[in-house]
Amino acid sequence: MQRIPLIAGNWKMHTSLGEARALAGAVVSACEGLTDREVMIAPPFTALATVAEVVRGSQVRLAAQNVCWEEQGAFTGEIAPGMLRELECRMAIIGHSERRQIFGESDGLINRRVAGAMRFGITPVLCFGETLAERESGQTMAVLERQVRGGLAGISVVEPAGMVLAYEPVWAIGTGKTASEEQAQEAHEFVRNLLFEMYEKSIARQMRILYGGSVNSGNVDALLRQPDIDGALVGGASLKADSFERIIHFR
Ligand code: PGA
Repeated sequence: MQRIPLIAGNWKMHTSLGEARALAGAVVSACEGLTDREVMIAPPFTALATVAEVVRGSQVRLAAQNVCWEEQGAFTGEIAPGMLRELECRMAIIGHSERRQIFGESDGLINRRVAGAMRFGITPVLCFGETLAERESGQTMAVLERQVRGGLAGISVVEPAGMVLAYEPVWAIGTGKTASEEQAQEAHEFVRNLLFEMYEKSIARQMRILYGGSVNSGNVDALLRQPDIDGALVGGASLKADSFERIIHFR
């Protein structure tokens, strides 16, 4: 069975409600008739309800940019998985490098988020990736292994579509510097082999690993032609309707 490519837009801390509505509308139109790929958008929390209305009944899937593990309680600043489900949001980005680097989220915390999301039927998009210093000192694969094993510790995956991974080298995020197809494929293949060690073969083979980091309309085709790259997690270029449309229509 082929893995169905997933094109995901991470809007980060951007968009007013009006902008979110317009951009989501453009994404819905861009996806009409597409059956061989999936598309996901992750607006800021404040725009989830608005975007939920726009994407309802379309094939565009709604994601949050983070999620807590508890059903409710004293967790100031956090959003519970059930709150997301009320908004028809069934996916959540977890462990983005900006959460790790700016907000100090550890592999242990990220692991709790992954477990909580899955318990409530939210598909995690678990992000991991090395910094430039880690790459230059030859630690890339060790970092990827630590983050992937840490994020997935104790997590059983029975439905491969219910778990998405995203390799995002930190030095490529928002910098205009993309990993070359070879660098990206090397990392993805390494992670695929890790998954084979961690999960049953049939499951590991089906889990999608996205690439993220300065993906744009000019480099998406070559990246997605790599055998272990199953989609893209797009930041900056997902905020421009025409660029994201071109990325959705990668060939
Ligand atoms: P970028 O961001 O496409 O702007 O590099 C990707 C991401 O952080 O998910």
